[in-house]
Amino acid sequence: MRRKILFFFLLFLALVAFLFILRKVEHFRQERLISSMTEVVTGEIRKGESLYLALVREEIPRDKIILLEKALKPVFDVKKSQIGDRYELERDLEGHFKNFKYYTTISPIDFYLVEKNESGKLVAKKERLPVEKKIARVEGRIETSLYEAMIAAGQKPSLTMDFADIFDWEIDFLTEPRPGDRFRLVWEEYWQVEKKLADGRILAAQYINRHQTHTAIYFEDPEGNKSYFTEEGKSLRKQFLRSPLSYRRISSYFSYRRFHPILKVYRPHPGIDYAAPIGTPVRSIGEGRVVYKGWKGGFGRFIKIKHKRGYYTTYGHLRRYAKGIRTGVRVSQGQVIGYVGSSGLSTGPHLHFAVIKNGRYINFLRLKLPAVKSVKKEYLKEFNRIKEERLTQLESISSN
Ligand SMILES: [Zn+2]
Repeated sequence: MRRKILFFFLLFLALVAFLFILRKVEHFRQERLISSMTEVVTGEIRKGESLYLALVREEIPRDKIILLEKALKPVFDVKKSQIGDRYELERDLEGHFKNFKYYTTISPIDFYLVEKNESGKLVAKKERLPVEKKIARVEGRIETSLYEAMIAAGQKPSLTMDFADIFDWEIDFLTEPRPGDRFRLVWEEYWQVEKKLADGRILAAQYINRHQTHTAIYFEDPEGNKSYFTEEGKSLRKQFLRSPLSYRRISSYFSYRRFHPILKVYRPHPGIDYAAPIGTPVRSIGEGRVVYKGWKGGFGRFIKIKHKRGYYTTYGHLRRYAKGIRTGVRVSQGQVIGYVGSSGLSTGPHLHFAVIKNGRYINFLRLKLPAVKSVKKEYLKEFNRIKEERLTQLESISSN
């Protein structure tokens, strides 16, 4: 019995000694490692901080920070730093600068690298992270709005906006979606190991309502022309946007969460009334020239724009005009020209909108416009190949 106790006691001692030596060796190894190592200061921009203040917080000497910012300037404007941007400053243990990396949330798949060149001067360049592309897919059904449906499907507002942008000439997502409408889309995601860095481009999208299926296929031809096309290879772009109110602008203007499709369309006269909150940006539905800007009786603050092929559009009851809008100026498609109000004879804030052709009011919502462009004949075969692939991806139930 006593021998047994003694044996275990010795075993215990040996174990302790062994662990002690192990620790010493490890310590020694670490020290050697450290002497050949560099130190990396990492952190992120906090609320109310500039990059400068963040680095001051990290106790980086102020003159060094100024040099860093100066080096970054040609490739990245530090004024664009945002909360959550990350930085890594590598230096040797004596404090000598090795390099600096800046990862901004604005472009999640790139980063900025500052290093010393041969003459010891700091220079910056933009670098791409090693990313892997994956195809993601989502589909959903509208209960209230596209936005709510996308959120319910686990997607981000930015993807919703990109989706709405694609159909900006075909669908007015503020007033047209009805419960039961369906959508599906496939897009690229950028991944690094197990982490998704960002959503990339939407490759294909569909919106299916009672009347029809709208399909958009992204295609880049060998000449570098990129656009979204229908299944027939026609561009989705047209002479006119589907609505003088922008889904993207409205959604970002009135914070996503609170925004519901409160917009309503009334048609008490030739023209359309869009009931919308005061201040909602109003855009020109097409490229053209302002031929009237000013007070016009019951229409209050009023703008009339002349477009190609004999079309005019008018916008009334504005609260105010956008900067630079004067009679005679050219406007581009989608350009904000004013803001919703209730000037003139108006019972509440709304946009009075009308389209006139050859002196007559026309039913804008029934207006069928030709596509502005199509896939070039010589690339149709390639387009059709891509299209088949995309349609299959849209259909497939599981992602990838
Ligand atoms: Zn009206």
